[in-house]
Amino acid sequence: MVLRKPKFLLDENLNRLAKWLRLLDYDAAVYKSISFHNAIRVANRERRIFLTRDRNLAGSNLIFSRRLIMSVDHRDQLKELNDIVTVKEEYLFSRCILCNKRLFNIPKKKIKELIPEFVYESFDEFKLCRKCGRIFWKGSHYKAMKEELKNLLTI
Ligand SMILES: [Zn+2]
Repeated sequence: MVLRKPKFLLDENLNRLAKWLRLLDYDAAVYKSISFHNAIRVANRERRIFLTRDRNLAGSNLIFSRRLIMSVDHRDQLKELNDIVTVKEEYLFSRCILCNKRLFNIPKKKIKELIPEFVYESFDEFKLCRKCGRIFWKGSHYKAMKEELKNLLTI
């Protein structure tokens, strides 16, 4: 049996946690502009685990799969998901942390005009989000997040 990675739907105030989950290549949608009723439908239809800090929402048995997040800090929130979230280095750098879309490899020659020259000179691997057009590389921000993850979970 192939274990599928769980998918999530998060409350808006868990936006920061959503970014961390995406960094780990988890499909983490944020429930923002849709009504709670629609959010439930989405979560159930797409078999997403609904994460919320709201006790009432977490208690609603209209949602198949849900979890109450207790912590305020996103690092502690991630630790609360330790039993369902696995951290592997190959997961990183696969999903846009802002759009929740998969990233695609892009040859560096194609984006030369779009990135700073020192970045072009220093890195060879670049990924593109086709939704927002952002280009990602394993620069200092990536390294800082990876270090932080290492401290939180086994990587
Ligand atoms: Zn994006």
